[in-house]
Amino acid sequence: MITIYNKIKKVSDEKNIKLYVYIDTNGTIFSDKLKEIKNLFINITVSCPEDHNKLRNYITYKDCYTQVIENILKIEKEIKNAKLSLRYNVHNKNINDLEKHIKSLISKGISSREMDLAYTVSHNEFINTLSKSDYYKWLYDDAYKILKKYKFSIRYFPVYSFYPCSAYSKNSFKVHCDGKISLCDSWDIKKSKFSIDDVIKNPDMFFDFYKNIKYFTPIKNKKCQNCKFLLLCGGLRFCDKNPCEKFNYLNLLLSSFKNCN
Ligand code: SF4
Repeated sequence: MITIYNKIKKVSDEKNIKLYVYIDTNGTIFSDKLKEIKNLFINITVSCPEDHNKLRNYITYKDCYTQVIENILKIEKEIKNAKLSLRYNVHNKNINDLEKHIKSLISKGISSREMDLAYTVSHNEFINTLSKSDYYKWLYDDAYKILKKYKFSIRYFPVYSFYPCSAYSKNSFKVHCDGKISLCDSWDIKKSKFSIDDVIKNPDMFFDFYKNIKYFTPIKNKKCQNCKFLLLCGGLRFCDKNPCEKFNYLNLLLSSFKNCN
């Protein structure tokens, strides 16, 4: 990881690009080499012990939850250069456990108050029966109130942006653990045509190949250009069949405010 970081840093410095490193991890491995990385963001997925251990039933870790909590505490204590965020992947079985989860994190001495709530997409044998509209209703009605109650920052919404997400950000890419490169988490890694070596040798080739995404602007889309949520949404994106859905419930809430005396 540090070798790759140093190579990317060299290219970024040559091109005068400020490098931000964002690590998405299951948090099972800790390394104090993380201290060497500047502008570092770490995102660790963790939920209540029973949910976490059921979904992360690794041979190497019988109690993956405890292992991850220990590593979060080590990061908070030792990796002072990092900004840490905890990710709670929401599905039908854990949607009512957010408060219990937060209380448990606090009781274990975790001081991070950054939490990324994310709808879990069904994959392989895992089926999430929670509908997206129920998820958004929960987010606006319950989840933000719980985050506020425990003084977690609510930084993911609203997000003022003029592009949908990091995949559309000009110089951003994701390095997977096998060295393949994709645009973001949602990009099908099997479609990946490049490795980290290709990008280090010829960064322009990668960004040219994805220029339709990298130079996308929602202003060119008729539906988005007239949408009142454009600055909160960023516009259409390849990973979401119905990106407007997340605003349906918000729209309903806003119209109920309008009708208040
Ligand atoms: S909510 Fe829908 S129409 Fe509005 S900006 Fe987002 S994708 Fe475009």
